[in-house]
Amino acid sequence: MAPRRKPPAPKPCPDCRAGQTSEAFQVGGRRKRLSDDRQEALCLTCLGTGHAPD
Ligand SMILES: [Zn+2]
Repeated sequence: MAPRRKPPAPKPCPDCRAGQTSEAFQVGGRRKRLSDDRQEALCLTCLGTGHAPD
């Protein structure tokens, strides 16, 4: 098996745009209520990089 180099093609994070989320926060645990607050927040999936974690 010849070693292959992975091309530098980071996948975009599926949970945000460019590392920022702008959806309503889910609060209340099981009940999945959405709060009225909509604000940009750092994406916790990619930690703000905007790329899907490997
Ligand atoms: Zn993200």
